[in-house]
Amino acid sequence: GPVIRFEDVHFHYDEDRKILKGVSFEVPAGKTIAVVGPSGAGKSTISRLLYRFYDVTSGRITIDEQDVRDVTQKSLRAAIGMVPQDTVLFNDSIAYNIRYGRPDATDEEVREAARLAQVADFIEALPRGYDTEVGERGLKLSGGEKQRVAIARTILKSPEILILDEATSALDTATEREIQSALDTVARDRTTLVIAHRLSTVVDADEILVLRDGQVAERGKHQDLLEQG
Ligand code: ADP
Ligand code: ADP
Repeated sequence: GPVIRFEDVHFHYDEDRKILKGVSFEVPAGKTIAVVGPSGAGKSTISRLLYRFYDVTSGRITIDEQDVRDVTQKSLRAAIGMVPQDTVLFNDSIAYNIRYGRPDATDEEVREAARLAQVADFIEALPRGYDTEVGERGLKLSGGEKQRVAIARTILKSPEILILDEATSALDTATEREIQSALDTVARDRTTLVIAHRLSTVVDADEILVLRDGQVAERGKHQDLLEQG
């Protein structure tokens, strides 16, 4: 997998409020780095910058030494699979939503991804709320169900780079455990950035960064951080 590097990244949405204040870290090829920290610390901002929903104010983000600003949006998004906190689905069937990003996938592959993410039961359904014509196929999905659709899409896409932004936060504990293991399988040997609220969900990360007030306050293995309290 590729190497991701954040080099002295600064970012603000609004001039008067700095969100990231000099964040530097590396995700080595095929490794998993987790960013944890309190709500509002700037964790999701890191994932949005890597995916280029926004660009850094100063500093730079590179993938295999190449500044992400020099990569086309299209190839960047082909390389990255992102499971965001709040998934917005396309106005089409769940199967379409899972296939998005891998239009070449066979029905069998789509079904297998759906099974692993536990959305196989409503794969033909249409997410309700967009289309008044959907009739009986219309289905109102919960936040957790939408999250599972995004996970199925990412499992199918099996990208070189994974961004899991509180990817299982809307799931109950039992479902979370099962789907986490499906995600772990995809993440193996992929360069992975995990955003999490709690330290307990990132036990296996190769390194954990604790983000506080827009800066990396601590970093280490899970055990090191537990010992420091
Ligand atoms: P975390 O993921 O650690 O909870 P975020 O990166 O989502 O934090 O947000 C960091 C800060 O930036 C928060 O105070 C949030 O309110 C603010 N913020 C997030 N998105 C925007 C935006 N689009 N415009 C302005 N402020 C934002
Ligand atoms: P493209 O530019 O190739 O059309 P998109 O940027 O529309 O691709 O989407 C690429 C991936 O990013 C999709 O898997 C989609 O789920 C995700 N994505 C795009 N926009 C959002 C968004 N606003 N919130 C969450 N996920 C998004």
